[in-house]
Formats: sequence, C-alpha cells, structure tokens
Amino acid sequence: SASAASLVTSGAGRTQDGHPVGLLANIAGPADGVAALEADAEGVGLFRTEFAFLDRSTAPTFDEQKALYTAVLTQFAGKKVVARTLDAGADKPLPFLPLGAEENPALGVRGLRTRVRFPELLGNQLKALAAAGAESNADLWVMAPMVATFDEAAEFTVLARGYGIRTCGAMIEVPSAALRAGDILSEADFVSIGTNDLTQYTLAADRMLGAVAPLLDPWQPALLDLVALTVNASDGKPVGVCGEAAADPLLALVFAGLGVTSLSMAPRAIAGVRTALLGVTFAQCQQVAEAARKARSAREARSAVRDLVPAAL
Ligand code: PEP
Ligand code: MG
Repeated sequence: SASAASLVTSGAGRTQDGHPVGLLANIAGPADGVAALEADAEGVGLFRTEFAFLDRSTAPTFDEQKALYTAVLTQFAGKKVVARTLDAGADKPLPFLPLGAEENPALGVRGLRTRVRFPELLGNQLKALAAAGAESNADLWVMAPMVATFDEAAEFTVLARGYGIRTCGAMIEVPSAALRAGDILSEADFVSIGTNDLTQYTLAADRMLGAVAPLLDPWQPALLDLVALTVNASDGKPVGVCGEAAADPLLALVFAGLGVTSLSMAPRAIAGVRTALLGVTFAQCQQVAEAARKARSAREARSAVRDLVPAAL
C-alpha cells in the first residue's frame, strides 16, 4: 500500500493526538512470542493455550502446562499477558477431550462449556497459570472463551480467583454476552471481544463453511453495534478486541472510535495498525465509527470509512 514505506515499527499504540489504544499480540506459544516482541507489541492480548496441545492424545499435565506458561510469561516480563483457558471443541477439537458427535459443534460443548464434563482440566490449568504467574514478572490476566451468560462469567471468576488468578475476564464472542456485557463486567475485571466467533454467531454463519463466508464480515453494522453495546456497558473497565478484525487497519480505527481500549492481532499486523492510528485523531476515529454504524451493509460501512480517512491509510 501507499503507506508501506512509512510503517511505524515500534512504540505504544496511540492516535495522532495521544489517545492510547493498546497494541497486543495473538500468540500460540513462545515462537509467536518472539515475533510479538520483534513487532514491539505492548503485551499479549490472546494467548491461545489450546494450540500447544492440539496434537495431544492425553491431557497436558500440570508440569507441562506450567513450563509452557512460564516460558511465555518470562518473555513478557513487565508486560501484560492475557491467557485464554482451553478453547476446545468446534473448530478447535482436542484429541484428549472426547466430546462425542454433535449435530452442531459450534453450538455444542466447547470453550468454557467443557468444564462441566472435565472439571479437573480447567482447575489444573488455572493452577498451572497461577503458578507460572507467581514465578514471573509479567502481568497475567486470564479469561474464559465462549462465555454466554452472567452465571458462567461469575462461576469462572470465582473459580479462577480461588486458584490465585488476580485479573479475571471473559471473552465476548456470543451475542448474549455482548447484550449483557454490563452484567458480566460486574464480576469480571475485563472483557475481550472475539470477533471471529461473535460474527459467526451474530450472522448465524458457520466460520468453517465456505458457502457462507460472504456473511462472515466483521464490518457488518450488526457486529459493530454489539461492540458498541459492550463498550458502553464497560464503565471504564478494559474492553479489548482480539479477533482477526483487529488486524484490519481501517476497522481498528472504528473500534478505537467506539472506545475499545486495546487491539490484539497477529504480530505481523501490528505495524500496520500502529501506523493507521498515528494517522488520525481520536475525534476522527469517533467520526468513522459513527459513519460505519450508520451504514446498512458491510460494504457501505467500509467505503464510508475509507472516504473519511487520509488516502495513505
Ligand atoms: C474469536 O473468536 O474471535 C477469537 C479471538 O478466538 P478464536 O478465533 O480462537 O475462536
Ligand atoms: Mg473464539
């Protein structure tokens, strides 16, 4: 693109006029951690802990988990690391978690829901995360995937705090959670919006199914409305976005304008989003967010935003 030559490759995320927007990395383990640090990420916004165990036929032990978490937390000493508890099921089947055949896996036992059948797995993971956190200087935050209700968020935060996790949160990736984000944030310390699943469930379009891919567009105004609802219910608590949508520089400006406090993405996308933020003021972010939400389609939203931002972006 026209701005490629002037990509800003370091520094905390902020708009031209200094409004901060945290630039964090999505990682699956220490190798991605290296890439995140090279991209000068301010920390990790989504540590997908299940990725290290995708090919395992037996559950990872406490010691194996503690070693992995310690390796990542040590890389990010002095920085924030948001670890997500195992997100098994649907698009991320784990061989050691036999969930059985389901007609609709995306609507089935996945994410936090697996705790009912495998309670010791979640307990063991929280214990390993807490132990790794206690041995490192990173700022460990822990969140649960696929939270749908206040009760689930409350149960998770009580459980995690019981194991010594200090900062506990929930992913907002189910429409019911976005609609009731205020309730969830009355118990959780933070939330992080997973736009991949939130788009899937809002549009009722399977993220694994190519035939419905055109519906899976995070520029859909309905998705932006749910992001806005979440932020407006947050009462100053952190609201991140950690789905792939955060890696789109123009959409990142929309999220910033809606009041999202951090954006987490693949390390290679960070410089582009950092550069886009520096190219506009916070007032411009708010203006593009308003324009995007006024649109009636993803296409209209995208072109309205493109018309409002400097051509180089
Ligand atoms: C999401 O759903 O947006 C997300 C970040 O999690 P995953 O893609 O791992 O489901
Ligand atoms: Mg998800």
